[in-house]
Amino acid sequence: MATVSTPPPTRVAMLSFHTSPLAALGGSKAGGMNIYVRRIAERLAAAGALVDVFTRRDDPNAAEIVELAPGARLVRVSAGPPDQLDVADLFLGLDRFVEGVEAFLRAEGGAYDLVHSHYWLSVAAGKRLAANWDVPHLAMFHTLGEVKLRARASEHEPAMRLEAERELVHSVDRIVVATEHERQLLRQLFRVDRERVAVIPPGVDLQQFQPRDRAEARRELGLPEDGRVLLAVGRIEPLKGFDILVRALADMTEGEGVTLIILGGDERAATEFARLTAIAEEVGVSSRLLFPGATPHDRVATYYNAADVAVVPSFYESFGLVALEAMASGLPVVASRVGGLTSTIADGRTGYLISWRCPEPFAEKLDLLLSNDALRAALGSSAVKSVARYDWAMVAASLLDLYEEVLSQRAGDSDEDSGESRPGDRSVVTTEGTG
Ligand code: UDP
Repeated sequence: MATVSTPPPTRVAMLSFHTSPLAALGGSKAGGMNIYVRRIAERLAAAGALVDVFTRRDDPNAAEIVELAPGARLVRVSAGPPDQLDVADLFLGLDRFVEGVEAFLRAEGGAYDLVHSHYWLSVAAGKRLAANWDVPHLAMFHTLGEVKLRARASEHEPAMRLEAERELVHSVDRIVVATEHERQLLRQLFRVDRERVAVIPPGVDLQQFQPRDRAEARRELGLPEDGRVLLAVGRIEPLKGFDILVRALADMTEGEGVTLIILGGDERAATEFARLTAIAEEVGVSSRLLFPGATPHDRVATYYNAADVAVVPSFYESFGLVALEAMASGLPVVASRVGGLTSTIADGRTGYLISWRCPEPFAEKLDLLLSNDALRAALGSSAVKSVARYDWAMVAASLLDLYEEVLSQRAGDSDEDSGESRPGDRSVVTTEGTG
């Protein structure tokens, strides 16, 4: 009888150097990327891969190894002082991080088939690990410094990041991006070939984010049951454009009974909180503005359920998970016409896309939605339908296909070099039997 061996699992070293997938969300360094790394690690493992996510230890008391899901582990590597560090210090810790990952592997034994790194600092580490292990390297930058600078003139990005990204985009086997738009940017800014860039949009957890009773959600959060609620969610930083939204609230004709909730931000966002508070005072909306601060992800779901409309006024979003979560929760989304938001929101069908980074057009669309219950309900229900295609399990399946592609390409290349096949190749074994 002929038997076919099951292929060995793909062993992935995933790098999330500067921020952990288990970090509290909504602070200055933890948002969409943390969710992304966690969800794909879990789903890749559910699909049969073995995933170790390496992150820099930033808390001396945290465990070294944590199981994220069967087959997926978080490994904390000591690299520099176990505190929150700024980018320049983090960059200095890269050597020790690379050594720490290698030491972990030496102690455990075994090998990884590929490196998958997130954000430029991890890509810099991944470049060295992939070269040392002679395995393919896939990278997801999440944002690029150059793109942020173009989106908002007063953004500051360290020169070392800009230089590193310019070089790193050419050092990897594949770059994974969330949208076709990002693939074009890589071509325009850095002349990266289309074939080296894979477009794989992220997902949204449709169990966690779904329409639920508004009155009950408001009771749970201690919000008044009457009146309208506008919701914005994200790290509190200028690039998110929350100042535009605060000014839009003052410009709205329907604004009187409206509460604006801006969710996210910790003590490190004090300057931006102060700026937003001063603007609210200047335009006379302080009493209608709430800042609940960084909020656990589960509770964010309740805020979407309590709201009438979600707003994403960002200067740039490479993807914008918040828009997807809001739509899955049944909310129409009024958002800037930038980056990934243009691929998730259908203008006039699931929300509105605003081409100008100024308050008036936001105020106009928010007035329109708040004054028309039927319109809001229609856009909200189209929004729910439109996000059904964003499934984390499908993201993992697309990534596994991509892994397979780069691994066979690498095996093909080394066959040509040596005339031999790669050790551990996923060969199909058949044995002669009695049948
Ligand atoms: N988030 C959260 N709590 C907060 C603020 C944000 O859980 O207090 C989550 C939010 O639900 C979303 C993510 O952080 O999943 C932000 O992702 P997005 O892609 O919108 O923005 P990014 O952080 O990537 O700029």
